[in-house]
Amino acid sequence: MKTIFEKSNNIDGITLTDESVVPNFIDEKFLRNGKCGLPQLSELEVLRHYKELSDLNFCIEKGFYPLGSCTMKYNPKVNELLASLDGFANLHPSQDDNDCQGALELMYKLQETLKKVTGMDAITLQPAAGAHGELTGMMVIKKYFEAKGESRKKVIVPDSAHGTNPASAALCGFEIISVKSNEKGQVDIEDLKTLLNSDIAAIMMTNPNTLGIYEENVLEISKLMHENGSLLYYDGANFNAIMGHTNPKLMGFDVVHLNLHKTFATPHGGGGPGAGPVGVVDKLKEFLPIPVIAYDGEKYFRKYDLAHTIGNVRDFFGSFGVLVKAYAYILMMGKNLKEASENAVLNANYLKEKLKKYYSLPYDVKCMHEFVLSGEDLKHECGVSTLNVAKALMDENTHPPTVYFPLIVHEAMMIEPTESETKERMDEFVDVMIKIYNEAKANPEKVISAPHTTPVKRIDETQAARHPDLNFKD
Ligand SMILES: *Cc1c(COP(=O)(O)O)cnc(C)c1O
Repeated sequence: MKTIFEKSNNIDGITLTDESVVPNFIDEKFLRNGKCGLPQLSELEVLRHYKELSDLNFCIEKGFYPLGSCTMKYNPKVNELLASLDGFANLHPSQDDNDCQGALELMYKLQETLKKVTGMDAITLQPAAGAHGELTGMMVIKKYFEAKGESRKKVIVPDSAHGTNPASAALCGFEIISVKSNEKGQVDIEDLKTLLNSDIAAIMMTNPNTLGIYEENVLEISKLMHENGSLLYYDGANFNAIMGHTNPKLMGFDVVHLNLHKTFATPHGGGGPGAGPVGVVDKLKEFLPIPVIAYDGEKYFRKYDLAHTIGNVRDFFGSFGVLVKAYAYILMMGKNLKEASENAVLNANYLKEKLKKYYSLPYDVKCMHEFVLSGEDLKHECGVSTLNVAKALMDENTHPPTVYFPLIVHEAMMIEPTESETKERMDEFVDVMIKIYNEAKANPEKVISAPHTTPVKRIDETQAARHPDLNFKD
């Protein structure tokens, strides 16, 4: 497909004014002499160009999107409608509290709901993404120990953790210590015990972990950590595994972040604007970013006087539009939030049982919202790697699952159908996975050279990530 610059044919899309009129209020030395180098096309050609581009994009409205850990569930359109209401969309963030009681009430009630969902005592809505929530949480933990006069420099992270966990802790200046997983895919308690000492500030975990497995020993872990004077951080990005059934507070955690753009059905923000609210237990609430939204029984207001606040992590109160969408989703779901988790878990287990007959399942236990297959056997048998399977899926109008993560599973395929999908869609996915499996055995070259139908075939992934060339050069 050509770029819009290549398509440019010097036809004016629109005529602005009489060309003989030269604006005389701009000093001549600032006026451009030559062409400005922008493409020129008729309005219809511009529309066609962007429609064609958007058709190349894959999205959940187009097909199955089982991208593990990313929770690509359906984002109901009514949420968009509500977020675009004039009173929300056109409100200025510096508006006086008295003039925006409705917006403040919405944020306050969202905070209260998220307190219930997580079991935590206070919430900040400010962070713009999951990883940003982690950073906020780790800043809170760091400042908490500083205020106590303790110098704890290390954070424990399981070897199965999401990559953002160690990155966030490291950004706060912590040293990362890895704790091993045992043969059940859970934190190895004996290994954990050997790592504990007065230098350990916290452990960052998620439960279920990134293998989709529930940590059976989570209560023992929280006891060990607290006895060591350390805190526990819960990565709640994929909260649809447990929502309404249990919560991080009951498991003994002190800090948690949620991804509204995963669990609470708001669009993914590509690093923001999403929303990664953070919840904390009572003893940490004076450390949260400001402002938090408060209510004195009569009026909602922005509260700035938190004794130990870490300051701002974002302008104003975060991604307000996203907060509206998430709150709309929560109100719409009501008690069914619990059922959403049940269906997410049911769907994942259904797919796991169907697919394990073909692709190996290293940890063959009941999973939560996702599970991890390994393409290692297939690779040994016929030279077809997980990457090849992923590319072949693109020819089948299916988004590939997350691959090569978590790192502790070789040739990993991390599959998360979410609760949005029907049995029919999941069966179609199973059929496609079996088709690729059979093709790999019969005609491996075909799978190894996939994709065959996409506009761009294989790119150099390292170059694309490290040296993206985003400019059009004539
Ligand atoms: C998605 C995810 C994150 C990061 O969230 P972003 O909004 O992408 O920054 C962190 N942890 C887990 C387990 C995730 O799935």
